[in-house]
Amino acid sequence: MTLFSRNGRADSLTVEGRVVAPAQSIDEHLRITIEAGVISRIEPSGSSRLLVAPAFVDPHVHLRTPGREDEETLRSGTEAAAAGGYCAILAMPNTDPVVDSAAVLGALVERAREEAVVPTGFMAAISKGQRGEELTEMAELADCGAAAFTDDGVPVVSAGVMRRALQYSSLAQRRLALHCEEPTLSRDGHAHEGEVAAELGLGPYPSAAESLMVERDLALAAGEALPLHLMHLSARESVAALRRAHVEGLPATAEVTPHHLCLTDEAVRSLDPNVKMNPPLRGEEDRRALVEALRDGTITAVATDHAPHARHEKDVPFEDAPFGVTGLETAFAALYTRLVLPGELSLETLLERMSAGPARALGLPEPRIEVGARANLVELDLDAEWQVTEAGFRSLSANSWLLGETLRGRVVRTIADGREVFPA
Ligand SMILES: [Zn+2]
Ligand SMILES: [Zn+2]
Repeated sequence: MTLFSRNGRADSLTVEGRVVAPAQSIDEHLRITIEAGVISRIEPSGSSRLLVAPAFVDPHVHLRTPGREDEETLRSGTEAAAAGGYCAILAMPNTDPVVDSAAVLGALVERAREEAVVPTGFMAAISKGQRGEELTEMAELADCGAAAFTDDGVPVVSAGVMRRALQYSSLAQRRLALHCEEPTLSRDGHAHEGEVAAELGLGPYPSAAESLMVERDLALAAGEALPLHLMHLSARESVAALRRAHVEGLPATAEVTPHHLCLTDEAVRSLDPNVKMNPPLRGEEDRRALVEALRDGTITAVATDHAPHARHEKDVPFEDAPFGVTGLETAFAALYTRLVLPGELSLETLLERMSAGPARALGLPEPRIEVGARANLVELDLDAEWQVTEAGFRSLSANSWLLGETLRGRVVRTIADGREVFPA
C-alpha cells in the first residue's frame, strides 16, 4: 500500500455523461452508479454535455511538508489536486527535513491519514539528505510505504551512486524517478541557453545539462536491465535518447509538464518569475518534440511538478527567484486550451496521459471504469470558460504561469477512491 488519505465515507452517487476512457476504448454516453464507493452499474444513457473520464494521476507534486507549511500543506495541496481532477498524487521528498528515514516518512503517512483528501503517495530520497553520497535504507523505506525513490530538486551526480540506487531500488521493488541535470553545465543558469537568454543577459542553462544525464542514466539502466522513470523532460535531445533506449528494449518511462508542453523560452522575455523553473522552458523545436513524444507514447505521463513558493520569494528579480510553478488546478484546462483545441493533441491522448499513463509508469493502481472497481472519476465541462485568479486557488501559493489567463475546460466534480472530493 503506497497511497494514503483521510479515512472517509464511501459515497453512493450517480455520474452521467459522455464517458471517455481511452485505455479501455470506451467513448459512449453512460450512467455510472456508485454504491459505497464502488462502481456497481454501468448503463447506456441519453446525451449530456458533461464529459466523464478516469480521474487524473499526478506523479510529481511538491507538498512542501514538512518544513514549509506556509507554502503548502497536505490538506491544501490535496484540495488543489481534487480541484484539478486528480484521484492520486505522489509527493516529492525534498522537504525540510528530507524524507530519507522511516521516522520522517512515517510521520508524513500519519499526517496524510488525517489530512489528505486525495490519496497521496510519498517518494523517499535516493540518498541521505539528498547529498548524492550515501543511499537511504530503501528496503526499510519501501516497507514504511515509500511509493518510489527520487532526489528531485537535485541530480544524483555520482554515476556509481546512481548505479547502486538502481540495484537497491529494484531489490526494494520500487521505481527510481530521476531529475536529470549535469550541475557543472547548469550552474548559474536561469534560462535555456539560446537567443532569449543571450539577449536578456541571463545565465544559460543548456539542453545538454539535461540530455547528458538522461543518456548516462539510460546507459546505467540498460547495463542493469532495470526500469527507470525520467522526470520533467524539456529538451529534444532527451526525447531522442529515450527513443533510442526504447528501440533497444529498455523499459524506461518519462513525464512532461504542462508548462514545457505549452510554453517556450519566448515567455521568459516577460521576466516574470512565474515562468522560471528547472529545467527551464526551451525552444519551439523542443516543445514540439515533447508534444510529439506525448502523442506517440514515447512519453506516457503528464506531471505538473507543482512547486508552490511563497509570494515574497517569487516577488523578486528573475535571476533571484527560485525555480518552480504551481500546476495542479490548471493542468487539464491549460493543456485542453493550448494543445487540444488548436489540434496539436487529441482529447483521448491527453486523458490517457493524465491518468492510466502516469499510473502505469509509477506502478500505481490504474483508474478504471468498470463494475467492481473503486470509483476514480472526473467530470469535465469542456465548454466552460474560466479565468485563472489567485483567489480561485485552493493551493496556499499562487505562483502560476497562467494568472490572468482565460482557459476552456473545467473540472466539475472529482471522485477519488470512492469519495466525492470536489466540490468539497
Ligand atoms: Zn526536478
Ligand atoms: Zn520537482
